[in-house]
Amino acid sequence: MSQGERYAAVEAGGTKVICLVGSDPDDVVADIRIPTTTPAETLGAVIDFFAAQAGAGNGVVACGIASFGPVELRRSHPKYGHITTTPKLEWVDVDVVGPISRALGVPVGFDTDVDGAALGEGRWGAGQGLSTFVYLTVGTGIGGGAIVGGKVAHGMVHAEMGHVSVPRHPDDRYEGGCPYHGDCFEGMASGPALEARWGGSAEELRGEARARAVDMEAFYVAAGIRNIVYTLAPERVILGGGVSEMDGLPAAVRHHLVAGLGRYPGLEEHRSADFVVPAALGGMAGPSGALVLADLALRGE
Ligand code: ZN
Repeated sequence: MSQGERYAAVEAGGTKVICLVGSDPDDVVADIRIPTTTPAETLGAVIDFFAAQAGAGNGVVACGIASFGPVELRRSHPKYGHITTTPKLEWVDVDVVGPISRALGVPVGFDTDVDGAALGEGRWGAGQGLSTFVYLTVGTGIGGGAIVGGKVAHGMVHAEMGHVSVPRHPDDRYEGGCPYHGDCFEGMASGPALEARWGGSAEELRGEARARAVDMEAFYVAAGIRNIVYTLAPERVILGGGVSEMDGLPAAVRHHLVAGLGRYPGLEEHRSADFVVPAALGGMAGPSGALVLADLALRGE
């Protein structure tokens, strides 16, 4: 990118869409938060924002979209750029890339919000300088984005790390909240699971209940991470999402992870305080990742 060239970045979430024009998180010339309502209204507002910016002299050379999903990422697929199956029924089979691409007339990069956050943390946040790491968000849902050898790991489409199996905590009677699998990782450790089990959100719990909730949450997050560690051998796991911000959670996750790995394969790195770390970019991880997606699209990657 040459001096002064800017990108359009879109982080499409289930409740809001963040759009910005800029080149990096410290060079944002305009941004807007749009409520996620109907696809026509929401995508229309996104397009209107970038058209207004172009009119004000803030044109862009490429666009990146990091979207809630699941999404279709295969470029050869007729539904490339669509959201596919989502509990938000109005958004099932909605083409996100097509309308934005036609309106802006620039190259468009597209991936999940979680893969986008991983890219953002890799370029400007807690994954800087690492070749292989995982960004794991623990919030309303659970999802992981893996960077392997500097690139987002895509198989046929994107990974679904939130739905791996986890062992049940011996003191836990909660049945699990995933509509597809019941007691998978997300079913046991998402924000709604925590709230259903303890009768209050992470912010509402106090005292002993809070301590027990943090410990059990850490048990499940560590179990999910153990699956990831043994599958991808990442150099670091970056924790994002609202639930991950519970006081003491990262340290408790490290404790349970070390216990869960049982000194196998015995890497000192897995015991290090910087193996599991909080995300560095906070709410800017997704929009930053969309900037990276735009940059990759411009370079044809
Ligand atoms: Zn599941």
